[in-house]
Amino acid sequence: MKKSEIKQFKQKLLDLKEELRVFEASVEANAEPVELDQSKVGRLSRMDAMQAQQMALETKRRRQDQLRSIQTALRRIESDDYGYCIQCDETMDSRRLKVDPSSAKCIKCAD
Ligand SMILES: [Zn+2]
Repeated sequence: MKKSEIKQFKQKLLDLKEELRVFEASVEANAEPVELDQSKVGRLSRMDAMQAQQMALETKRRRQDQLRSIQTALRRIESDDYGYCIQCDETMDSRRLKVDPSSAKCIKCAD
């Protein structure tokens, strides 16, 4: 892969990382504890609230996974391993990296 291409992917990864960080910060700021006091909320809305909390946890977990693969990708750039599949060591299709610059495996190894 060309140096200029890697530079572009690096910038994209850094942008993504920043986006996630900003998003995370705004979520934390807006997070409200779920009201579980039975006298204040009905059974159904309590279940709704718990479901919403569950979903929020799930998306948070996904964001953390994403952040981890971005950081790993950035480390691979530093060590000149970027652009190669971590499983079969083949060159990655740059079209794939354009869709998701943090992907670590080629299409064949991804599934
Ligand atoms: Zn592969």
